[in-house]
Amino acid sequence: MPGGVNSPVRAFNAVGGEPVFIKKAAGCRVTDVDGNEYIDYVGSWGPLIAGHTHPKIVEAITKQTQLGTSFGAPTELEIILAEKVVAAVPSIDIVRMVNSGTEAVMSAIRLARGVTGRDKILKFEGCYHGHGDSMLVKAGSGLASLGIPDCPGVPESLAKQTLTLPFNDADKVRELFAREGDEIACLIVEPIAGNMGVIPPVDGFLQTLRDVTREHEALLIFDEVISGFRVGLGGAQKRFGIQPDITCLGKIIGGGLPVGAYGASKSLMDHIAPTGSVYQAGTLSGNPLAMAAGLAMIDLLSEPGVYEELERKSEKLCQGLKDNVASLGITAQFTRVGSMFSMFFTKDDIVDFESVKTCDTEFFSRYFTALLEKGVYIAPSQFEAGFMSMAHTDADIDKTLEISREALKIATGVASGGK
Ligand code: PMP
Repeated sequence: MPGGVNSPVRAFNAVGGEPVFIKKAAGCRVTDVDGNEYIDYVGSWGPLIAGHTHPKIVEAITKQTQLGTSFGAPTELEIILAEKVVAAVPSIDIVRMVNSGTEAVMSAIRLARGVTGRDKILKFEGCYHGHGDSMLVKAGSGLASLGIPDCPGVPESLAKQTLTLPFNDADKVRELFAREGDEIACLIVEPIAGNMGVIPPVDGFLQTLRDVTREHEALLIFDEVISGFRVGLGGAQKRFGIQPDITCLGKIIGGGLPVGAYGASKSLMDHIAPTGSVYQAGTLSGNPLAMAAGLAMIDLLSEPGVYEELERKSEKLCQGLKDNVASLGITAQFTRVGSMFSMFFTKDDIVDFESVKTCDTEFFSRYFTALLEKGVYIAPSQFEAGFMSMAHTDADIDKTLEISREALKIATGVASGGK
């Protein structure tokens, strides 16, 4: 396997050392092949908001496995999950299931280009929207961690159709649209940036995106692959009260199985085949196991108080981390929306990719390695989000804070490493 892994960030290139190979997991804990246990804040990069191997999700998958794992024909499960997504996400009337966030975004962009008859798209520096060709321009996540601004293999003729601007800069968006807005098919954004660490939108930014795209008849796409069902059942669009034209989903709605989805109003989605002529298909799309897991997940998230509790625990963790760095005299910035959060080792305010790049990544690597040695697993890059799950207890958070304090001391050279 390239780099020994099936997805680049897993290889630990950004932090050094050997990646841990996971054997099993339960609740908020993962266990590696050597039997070491870690409190996990990666949660499979976001999907596992209920924690690992939640009994209700395991039961749903097991039950469906006995009935069949794939039919390539419609099932009732797909209808029920579609109805739940439509009920929860304000801007979605019709939804199409796919197999990954990448596919969801590729399909949403094709729809936007198909409907508008325009080719250009606008994205923000440091936002990651999967690895579709058009999206690998100044992208976040693994490309940020590995320092790949533009990916070889993407035809220049295609890459030049992707315009980029700094996240959170509403003036630059207005200027660009004033110049070439009538050639732009769509603007795609993570409404809460989560792939250069977590960066919340500044006040008024999403509203500007909504206003400007409407004015120029370009479509606004919210990539809610991370934020969908993470910051509330209705995602960031409900939380901030801004409705995009098209929404991309993934991660949580598959309950830990491979999934993605995109949805929009009926009039837009009527352009998708077989109703319309914008083609998109998938052998395993709407896979019954993924649908069963996703349904069980949404049922769990629909219980009263779930998001409030996630919010409380995430605030407790972030406040504790703030106290740790303050008492040790370390400079860091904190960002959080709901149960997604980041700690950035920089003195600069975090508003965009440029500010994130001022972080002391060497310090981060030492901190990461010390955490791991002591039993806390966070994403192996400064440019990724942390995720709280329903399974983390107050005791787990207290333990994490204790370990974090020791790890911070090791990273600054005040204490020596080791378990
Ligand atoms: N969009 C966003 C916002 C993401 O965070 C990701 C993956 N982390 C994707 C798209 C791509 O999803 P996938 O990895 O399932 O293809």
